[in-house]
Amino acid sequence: MSRDYYEILNVSRDADGDVIKKAYRKLAMKYHPDRNPDDKAAEDRFKDAAEAYEVLSDAQKRQVYDTYGHDGLKNTGYSGPGNASDIFSHINEMFGDMFGFGGGRGRQRDPNGPVQGNDLRYDLEISFMDAVHGVEKEVEISKPETCRTCQGSGARPGHQPQTCPTCQGRGQVLRSQGFFQVSSTCPQCRGAGRIVVEPCADCNGEGLVNKKKKVMLKIPAGVDTGARMRLSGEGEGGRRGGHAGDLYVIIHVQEHEYFLRDGRTIYLRYPVSMVKAALGCEVDVPTVNGDAKLKIKAGTQSGERLTLRGEGVVGLRGGRPGDMIVEVQVQTPADLSKKQKELLREFDEHCDQEEEGFFSKILHGHFKGKEKDNA
Ligand SMILES: [Zn+2]
Ligand SMILES: [Zn+2]
Repeated sequence: MSRDYYEILNVSRDADGDVIKKAYRKLAMKYHPDRNPDDKAAEDRFKDAAEAYEVLSDAQKRQVYDTYGHDGLKNTGYSGPGNASDIFSHINEMFGDMFGFGGGRGRQRDPNGPVQGNDLRYDLEISFMDAVHGVEKEVEISKPETCRTCQGSGARPGHQPQTCPTCQGRGQVLRSQGFFQVSSTCPQCRGAGRIVVEPCADCNGEGLVNKKKKVMLKIPAGVDTGARMRLSGEGEGGRRGGHAGDLYVIIHVQEHEYFLRDGRTIYLRYPVSMVKAALGCEVDVPTVNGDAKLKIKAGTQSGERLTLRGEGVVGLRGGRPGDMIVEVQVQTPADLSKKQKELLREFDEHCDQEEEGFFSKILHGHFKGKEKDNA
């Protein structure tokens, strides 16, 4: 190869180490064989970039190259970056786990080191009222916990796990992919770097056992569906001395038969008889805090909304509770007795004039809403 190294990395001839490193990183990410399977052109670009980087990142080699070019390097005995695993070793040195070569996310730097447990999710359904007032609930969660017998090592007590013979403890094996050897998780130890020859009888060598555990949940007043609680260290158990993961509890609030909730506001539809709505009355309405007195003014219309201050839900961060909105539903009587019908007809006779007035107002275009009169 005789292309100019500065050209390959697309940097100026006086670029400093950081600039060169950044430029190389960009190209290595772009042309990495894992991202461009079976793409010969990308493979070549990747190889070129590695070679250019190896020379330009080394002050001595760079000076030789700047002065004598490719031939100068040959005369010093340098003949390219050597084999593929050299390329990968310096890429891994540079970028470490961020690059995620082969082994995938979360690969352990030390395959024999501690392994943190996974986070777990638990969906909890609670009643409408429990969400409004808060509740303490003990739930039983079945989850993998660190095996006490082997302390999560997976090995029978008195026996140590052995170094994996397939990968010699690295957890990774090199597989060939065209010119390259790409590192991937060892199939025998599945990346652990060691294998359990004498497995712990209690966990079958997994290091984890499924256990039921009771967890006390303090659910604060004001939670709503979708609220998430994190319980540190209550997730899956760790192995080989690793920390346990966290438990995330996701709240689902059941609907209520009568109340509707929107954030801190509670809504209630409250039926009132036609006569009571017309004459006005005081009623006991249910709230989330028990019954409350509510004044229905004479002449209240169906659909009118009345507010009970402070009878809503408290916020999760405290503060004044929300309000409750009562929507009055005037009930039209049905199944009237003969006597009731007579009375209503008589009542109607007294109303006729008013209705005529109503229609004439509409016809002459100066109808005013009843609500405005009340305000
Ligand atoms: Zn065990
Ligand atoms: Zn292995």
